[in-house]
Amino acid sequence: LPVLAVVGRPNVGKSTLVNRIIGRREAVVEDKPGVTRDRVTYEAEWAGRRFKVVDTGGWEQDVLGIDASVAAQAEYAIETADAVVFVVDSTVGVTDTDEAVVRLLRKANKPVVLCANKVDGLSGEADATALWSLGIGEPHPVSSLHGRGTGDMLDAVLEALPEAPAQTFGTAIGGPRRIALIGRPNVGKSSLLNKVANEERVVVNELAGTTRDPVDELIELGGVIWKFVDTAGIRKRVHLQQGADYYASLRTAAAVEKAEVAVILIDASESISVQDQRIVTMAVEAGRAVVLAYNKWDTLDEERRYYLEREIETELAQVAWAPRVNVSARTGRHMEKLVPAIETALAGWETRVPTGRLNAFLGELVAAHPHPVRGGKQPRILFGTQAGTKPPRFVLFASGFIEHGYRRFIERRLREEFGFEGTPIHISVRVRE
Ligand code: GDP
Repeated sequence: LPVLAVVGRPNVGKSTLVNRIIGRREAVVEDKPGVTRDRVTYEAEWAGRRFKVVDTGGWEQDVLGIDASVAAQAEYAIETADAVVFVVDSTVGVTDTDEAVVRLLRKANKPVVLCANKVDGLSGEADATALWSLGIGEPHPVSSLHGRGTGDMLDAVLEALPEAPAQTFGTAIGGPRRIALIGRPNVGKSSLLNKVANEERVVVNELAGTTRDPVDELIELGGVIWKFVDTAGIRKRVHLQQGADYYASLRTAAAVEKAEVAVILIDASESISVQDQRIVTMAVEAGRAVVLAYNKWDTLDEERRYYLEREIETELAQVAWAPRVNVSARTGRHMEKLVPAIETALAGWETRVPTGRLNAFLGELVAAHPHPVRGGKQPRILFGTQAGTKPPRFVLFASGFIEHGYRRFIERRLREEFGFEGTPIHISVRVRE
């Protein structure tokens, strides 16, 4: 994997930034005590690309003394990294030490992304702009503490890093995309799986440790290899008398956990049930991309079709954003529409809105539709950032409590503006004093 080093003076916020970059998944892959310092490397992923991050923050307590420590960081980065994030405290401005680091980095000729950290409010932008004077390109205004601006900075990092070598499977980094085929008993999961597996190529069955059940199956559909996860329970038609629902729901939860996208099968010939809704909720709450497949379409008469549409509107409103296919596992109807629907949902799931575009949109929205006045005050959305993808997660900063209805309104408008077909989106609001 390509290596990114994060360097800068003590106290500029390197470790906070590294935590931002690696997100919640703090997988320490290396932690080797060196002679005079600890080298800590993490794995990170952004926009589907993985890379290593070297945190030099631990070098600050170095016996070498501050200046020597900073120089050592820079030299280390120069030796080993493919690109460097150089962190400067924008509230302090350029110091002699910063300039010394710039000289070293420039000599090394490694790509450098300049991070103007501690831009916590809109007023900090000017401080960030002042860092153009370092002569190493555009300063990226960031608040490592709040997450603001880190997305745009990471886009620049990806541009600076070399591409990782392509994986043998050639589909996505990390192997084939993972699909959970779920739905209540008898909706036709096994029939659908057999249909796609028989008509297309089943590449390999991955065998579970001790049993001979295929757990995950690799199936080529539409020229791409997909991994259908946890298919053992689908293939093996065990009919448990007692507790069947309980085991079915455990299996569903396990499959959803392992998957990126849930293809939820619904029996279109029957009324949409509470159990169907529970399965939908499970996938949404797990934050998976969602495709709805209405099966047994071959059995529908006009009257049932009419009622089905009404039921979908009322019972499945929570996933009105999910792409939909009307299929028949028996006749093979519309099977070819399954893959495009899955691809649409995955694309929505991975969508990232640049901070600039997001804030231009939020600014207009808030001006045109202000939050209702409460207790003589008007809570305002100050700015927002997309903190993550898979599914898209937004953090909005507000001057006061934002009501649920207004959040829903923002979610609706975000969807209208940016798509997000087939994906739940999370919005959290932080109130700033
Ligand atoms: P599972 O429990 O979800 O795996 O459901 P199965 O695949 O075992 O299907 C349950 C029943 O529905 C079986 O009798 C299938 O033959 C039938 N079935 C599945 N798909 C279709 C379909 O598209 N049309 C019709 N008419 N029957 C179907």
